[in-house]
Amino acid sequence: MSSISFLTAQGHSPERPASMDIFAPDYREEPYWWMAAPPSAADAADPNPLPSKAEVVIVGGGITGLSAAIHLARGGAEVVVADAGAIGGGAARMNAGFLGRTLKRSVGWLEQHVGPDYAVRVYRELDEALKGVESFVEAEGIACYRRSCGRLISANSEPHLRDLVEDMDHMKRRLGFDYEVISKADQQSELASDRYFGGVVVPDLGSIHPGLYHAGLVARAKGAGVRFFPSTTVVGIDADGRRKTVRTDKGAISAGQVIVATNGYTPRNLKWFARRLVPFRGFVMATEVLPAGLIDKVLPRRRTYLDTKMNIDFIRPAPDSERILFGGMTGRLNTTSTSLMPALYRRMVEIMPDLQGARISRSWTGYCAGTFDFMPHIGTQDGIHYAMGYNFAGVPLGTLFGRKLAARILGRGDGTSAFDVGKFPTLPFFNGTGLVAPLAMRYFDHHDRRLAKRT
Ligand SMILES: Cc1cc2nc3c(=O)[nH]c(=O)nc-3n(C[C@H](O)[C@H](O)[C@H](O)COP(=O)(O)OP(=O)(O)OC[C@H]3O[C@@H](n4cnc5c(N)ncnc54)[C@H](O)[C@@H]3O)c2cc1C
Repeated sequence: MSSISFLTAQGHSPERPASMDIFAPDYREEPYWWMAAPPSAADAADPNPLPSKAEVVIVGGGITGLSAAIHLARGGAEVVVADAGAIGGGAARMNAGFLGRTLKRSVGWLEQHVGPDYAVRVYRELDEALKGVESFVEAEGIACYRRSCGRLISANSEPHLRDLVEDMDHMKRRLGFDYEVISKADQQSELASDRYFGGVVVPDLGSIHPGLYHAGLVARAKGAGVRFFPSTTVVGIDADGRRKTVRTDKGAISAGQVIVATNGYTPRNLKWFARRLVPFRGFVMATEVLPAGLIDKVLPRRRTYLDTKMNIDFIRPAPDSERILFGGMTGRLNTTSTSLMPALYRRMVEIMPDLQGARISRSWTGYCAGTFDFMPHIGTQDGIHYAMGYNFAGVPLGTLFGRKLAARILGRGDGTSAFDVGKFPTLPFFNGTGLVAPLAMRYFDHHDRRLAKRT
């Protein structure tokens, strides 16, 4: 199926500039995943007023918060989840659904800068997180299209390919993680693009429908007795003495234990946390339903796809319909995803020319959280538990860290983590807002261009 026949099938002239016509008639600025799993304040909400007392209060009903809530409630704790918006209105139902064990810091970098044992502990824990989602979804019977589809990492230049293969080789020797090199000549068997210089496939990485996954978490948490209070904004936490006071816009709760699980949505008034997180926007689009055969031509192995840039482009097929999801240009200042779509669409078509003429049906933007050391963090501050700073990879890690926080509070199970390093860096005068994220992304773009020119 060529792009021309696709355009004709849609009733458009092939000559018509794509930028004029990139939005499908049903276009909406809303996550694609909400078609199957819309977040709803009403569904999950506890019918009673906010309690004045609770054993555990969890701030944020995303992946981290709900994973912790399920394990705590099943362990016998009385759990209240307060979320400023709808339950699942954060990144939990907006992400791309890639399941990986990826960090911005490679095994080699960690070995060199922190130590070989630490590097291995970190990557073993990332692997535990990946395997943990797989086994959790299976054990709980959550119908969310989880698949070990494998991931293609495409190299943006020959030097990128050399570095990538070196990293993968190092990781295989140290940790046994498998990979396969794809040469430039074989690239088309994986991805119909001539933009790349080959790449590697990591066969055991996976994907998920994040909306259905999170909806499954909500159902299991409710089944375990967790009480949800959506549209309840936590404005401050007083942590003097043994009990904590969680102040919300609906009243205060006296809590035995508190978990802050707000990641990229952490508000400035939770100052200690906000000062350590760099919130940045991710942008994703979903095409309209594509003609039969087009996905099999463009993404024949139906994997997840990203590249070797620091500011990545990412691609995947939707698991539940014949659409392709494409994301990139992370960290742009656009406050709506629609305004970025012409540029993002151009990039998608540059990478996959067969998609010329495929219109956009959904686009959305949500917040991730970067950190100054590029590492996720789990820990306790002033007696308040937290897990955050996932740097774009919080689906597996949020699930794992939620379980670990529950283990710490219950005093049972393994609550230890290589990411609990007791040091969560910030910068002088940084207050959680401003231009740090876009500046960092500009730096990444510059770094990517420089590396691409290396021979
Ligand atoms: C576009 C995009 C694509 C991504 N793709 C991937 C991917 O493919 N794979 C992957 O692993 N990760 C991905 N991520 C990252 C991943 O979604 C996050 O790391 C993950 O959702 C973090 O989970 P969480 O529960 O900690 O936070 P969230 O799911 O963001 O939940 C935080 C919650 O806290 C609530 N909150 C904030 N402030 C308050 C307050 N004051 N009071 C009460 N509640 C509050 C928010 O309303 C929100 O519901 C992506 C993120 C984005 C934005």
